[in-house]
Order: sequence, then C-alpha cells, then structure tokens
Amino acid sequence: MKSHFFMIALATTLLAGCGNQQQTQQPTDQPPFKYQVDQFADLKVLRYQVPGFDSLSLKQKELVYYLSQAALCGRDIMFDQNFKYNLAVRRTCEAIYKGYKGDRETEDFKNFTTYLKRMWFSNGIHHHYSNDKFFPQISEASFAELVENSEGVEFPKLEGETPDQFITRISTIIFDPTVGAKRIDQTEGIDMVKASAVNLYEGVTQKEVENFYNAMRKPGDNQPVSYGLNSKVVKENGKIVEKKWTTDGLYGQAISQIVYWLEKAVGVAEDESQRTGLLKLINYYKTGDLKTWDEYNVIWVQDTSLVDYVNGFIEVYGDPLGMKAGWESVVNFKDMEATHRATTISSNAQWFEDNSPIDPRFKKETVKGVSAKVITVAQLGGDCYPTTPIGINLPNANWIRAQHGSKSVTMENITYAYNQASMGSGFLEEFAYSPEEIELSKKYGPLADNLHTDLHECLGHGSGKLLPGVTTDALRNYHSPVEETRADLFALYYLADPKMIELGLVTGENEYKAEYISYIRNGMMTQLTRIEPGKNIEQAHMRNRSLIAHWVYEKGSAENVIEKKTRDGKTYFVINDFHKLRNLFGQLLIEVQRITSEGDYEAARKLVENYGVKVDQVLHKEVLERYGKLKLAPYGGFMNPVFVPVMENDKIIDVKVEYPDNYIEQMMQYSANYSYLPTYN
Ligand code: ZN
Repeated sequence: MKSHFFMIALATTLLAGCGNQQQTQQPTDQPPFKYQVDQFADLKVLRYQVPGFDSLSLKQKELVYYLSQAALCGRDIMFDQNFKYNLAVRRTCEAIYKGYKGDRETEDFKNFTTYLKRMWFSNGIHHHYSNDKFFPQISEASFAELVENSEGVEFPKLEGETPDQFITRISTIIFDPTVGAKRIDQTEGIDMVKASAVNLYEGVTQKEVENFYNAMRKPGDNQPVSYGLNSKVVKENGKIVEKKWTTDGLYGQAISQIVYWLEKAVGVAEDESQRTGLLKLINYYKTGDLKTWDEYNVIWVQDTSLVDYVNGFIEVYGDPLGMKAGWESVVNFKDMEATHRATTISSNAQWFEDNSPIDPRFKKETVKGVSAKVITVAQLGGDCYPTTPIGINLPNANWIRAQHGSKSVTMENITYAYNQASMGSGFLEEFAYSPEEIELSKKYGPLADNLHTDLHECLGHGSGKLLPGVTTDALRNYHSPVEETRADLFALYYLADPKMIELGLVTGENEYKAEYISYIRNGMMTQLTRIEPGKNIEQAHMRNRSLIAHWVYEKGSAENVIEKKTRDGKTYFVINDFHKLRNLFGQLLIEVQRITSEGDYEAARKLVENYGVKVDQVLHKEVLERYGKLKLAPYGGFMNPVFVPVMENDKIIDVKVEYPDNYIEQMMQYSANYSYLPTYN
C-alpha cells in the first residue's frame, strides 16, 4: 500500500515554508536547485535531490547503482500492463518526435509533443489518476501528416501492413473515444473486466475470472498466496489460463534484464539477509512461483540494511478486480535522523493498538514488528515513475503482515521537493478561510503531514485484524478505498491524542489542528481540482478522503462541527469544534474497522458510494474556477537522477549522481536504453 502526496496534504504542504525538513540546500555559491522543470496539461514535472548519497560507502553506492538500473528495466512492462496498445502508440509518437522533417514550431507539433509528454507521464494513453483516455489536440489528418513526414525512423508496423493501413490502425487507437475508453472502470453492476482497458485480462468475463480464482482458494489456508498477482488471464482453446510474467514467460525480455542487474546487486549486498532476499527475488522472477514471492517478502520485511529497494509486481490498484499487480521499483537508503521520529511511533505500536477506539474483537493482541523508517529515494521505476508515492507500507499479503510485520517508509526527499516546488503558488491563500488558518498551515503543516504519513503507514494499515474466515478480497472493488480510509482515520484520530505530546512528537494542539483543517478542506473541496467537470471520483485515495470529510461533515452538522461558509461568493469549510471532530473520526474508524474485520461488503459499498464517489456539481464548478485562476498543475511527477559509475579499467571506483533537467531527453533516453519489450506482447 502506498500514500500519495496529494491525498495526504495538498492544501497544507503545497504552500508551507517547511525549510526545517531536510538539508537539501545547495552550497550558497551554486545556483539554487531547480525543482520544477516542466509543466503541461494538468501535470508538472519536478526533480528530487539525493542528499547523503556521497557519504555512502563505495559498496553501497554500487548497490544503489545496480538496483537503479534494475528499476529502469521494467519501464515497458507498466506501459503494456496499462493498455495493450500503449507501446505501439508510444513508439509511433517517439519515431515522429525523432524523425519529423516538417516545421516543428507549429501549434500542431507543439500539441503533439504535449500528447507525447502526457503519455510518458501516465505510462500510457490513459490519465494516470482519472483513468480516462486522453487525446492529442490535433486532427487525425495532422497526425497522418506527422507520420508521413518522419524520415529515417521505424514505425511499429504489423507484418504486411501498408503505411496507410498502419496510420489508420494507430489513429483509431489514439483518436477513437470508444477504443479503450477507460483504463479501469469500476462502475457498479457492470462487467469490470470487459469495461476496463487494462491489459491484465483478455477474452474473459469478470465472472469467469472470479470463478477461476475462487476455485484456487483453499478454505482454511492461513498462508494464502496472492492469487493472480503476477499473470495475465486469457482464454486459450476455450480454457482459461494464466500467462505468468517471468523471465521465460510474458515480459521475459524485460524481466531478464531486471534479473541481470539484481544479480550484480547480489555481489555487493550489505549482508547475508539482503543477499538471500535478492536471490529469492531472482528465483521468483524466474519461476513465477507465488510461494517463493511470499518467502522473499518474509526475508525482505526483516532486512534492515541501509540501502533498500522495492522491485516487483506489487500494488493492485491498476486491476479493476484488485488482484493483479503493476510492476514498480523504488531504490532508497535510510535517512537516519528523520527515522528517529518514525521509530518513536512504531515502537509504541502496541499502545496505539490497545488504546484504539475500535471494537476489542478486531484488535490485534500483539502488533508485530511494525518497522518504520524515513528514506531518501534514489531512483523510481515502473508504476512509481514519475508519479511517486510519498509513503509505502509493504508487503501487502495480510498473513505476512500479521505474522512478520511490515516495512513502512516515508520518502522525505520527495515531500521536500514537492514543498520547495510549490512555495508561493497562492493555493493556500485562495482556499483557506482566514489568515490564522494560513499561519497554522505554514508553521505546523509540514510536520503534521509527515506525522500523518507516519501514523497512516507505520500503524494505520498494520492495525486491526480480520475475523477468522474473512479475507481482504471480501470487500472486492471497495477494498482499496476502505483500507485507505481506515489508515487515514487511524492517523487523524491519533494526531490529536495527548500521547503525541507525551512522546515529544508535537508541541501542542497546533499540529493536529493544521492537519484537520487541511484534510477537511481537501476532502470537501480542493481535491476536486483533479476531477473533470461532470465526473465522479474514481481513485481509491480520493474516494477515501471524500468519504471521511463528507461523513464527519454530515454527522457533525447538528452541532455545527464543520461549517460551510460563503464570503464574496466563495465557499469555505471551517472547523468550529476540533474535539468533536476528533470524536467523529473515532466513530467512523470504529465502523470502518468493523466493515473490514467482518468483510461487510454491503456496508462498504454504501459508505463509499454515499460519501466517497459523488461530486457536488455547483461547488465543483466554483472550485475549478478559483483553481484555474492560479494556473497550477494539480499532479506532480519526478524525473530521476542519474547514477554514473566512475571506472578504472573494469572496476567501479566511485559513483556520481547527476540531476538532468530535461524531461523529454530523459524519456527519449529511457526509450533508447531501457526498452526491452516487443511492441505487441
Ligand atoms: Zn495507505
């Protein structure tokens, strides 16, 4: 599970001063580091620094280098998983970008370039967040002209296809709104497998897939593997089969490269545990055996090496049925100082569990090994590039979490970069009700956000237990929003607990008040800036934030806990009673934990559909207008730094880190150097 920046903070952190978070500043004789390097459509491209890299040992630097290479090798996988024609469209557009001999200064060419950048950003032709297909702002005739006037490049034609046939076929994929309209469609009551464009199923219905996997599950198995995690499901000769993603299977060309670099990493692993883990992972990539994957995760969760990584098919947000995982990688090393804060929280995990307001039947008697650390990200890949999470809590398998704990990390150099990039944007001034709110947000918002992330990741997801016989897939398509709601509520509830002061994590009430203000403002209002007019909320984390904010707003309305105010035609949400609000968070936590523990699908459905999905059209229009005037991009993503080995003969004697600032160049280089999959898989 992971948390994304905009779901944690948006309002508070976007504007906050927060210079106290981390020492990433450049020496004064150098120009200041440029955090934002590009902006187009609703997207901005940022950069992050890797403070502390130079103080790593040579062996650790080498390890970061090898793991970073492995992180880049799976890029094509994510494109292909998102939609089966993504690689065809990407390669066509890249060929145009390289070979077009016409005028490159026209509106058409600029619009085409924007389309290409959007596609790179979203790892395909669907918006990375809304899941809707997006379109180039050029005509089909102009597109054909771009292809026809591109020279010295190869287009991904099918065998025997004429140039005209090729253009027609690719144009249909790009321009026809009915072809792959939505990457994921979880509309109630439909066949989600059929309706979703994701390339995880082919020629099968939702019912068939569900039956297929239900037949595999063994009743009473208390260590179930993550069924379906690493395969595509297809029908062959009328029979439903899994096509596994392994070195010899589907995506083998890319996975073999990942394995190549992981094998290099084995040679410089920090200790035996990390070495064993890497070997297990390699073995899993070769066999596709999900038992091996679980064994790997058990080792990985206990590995406390300074340099660490995520690499694999991990998160299931991209699957309408929540089973199949997107490929991703994050390479990182521990930030010792900031880790102290997270450790304080995690070492008190049992106290938090014992004092939680939830029904004692759903509490864990012993909360095991919730390890928490703050990390410095060194490289992002697959599903984490360029839109990275700011916190991760893994592994996802429930029985491993229960028996071996989970590893929870916050990525502070990423949040720091977000903050630096967004200072002075005017966002907070527009949506905050009063100068006091702004002051509170600026002063306490950054710490409050970090603490929220720590609590959400270190404790929230790990807290509570399922009743015997209940599995996480009981909530099906509502699992993700409900799970995120649960972790968020845990964080919100405890941020205001006196225990936080006792532990020395906060100085008083200002931190939680800052977080409550920004959370409600975001859930009621400002997150709507990322929704197109007329659309509902689809994304799990956004549903969760909307759900919580609207539920407490409604339940507290009799006592005016949160007040909707209007001033100069602008809407604001103002918290009148922080203590009552905290109680409401607690009440909702009790209910959401019950739903989770009992696997109460019907209650989950009602909660999400009633509070998390629908959008107040009038307010939405107003928010978009106010936001539009600020000319900001609601979504951010990050370019990667580049690690350059310094060689002496055949030996690496040092690794240097460089920070390129041209997004197009990085993308074209990735496509030239890390593109291993055929166009059609
Ligand atoms: Zn989460």
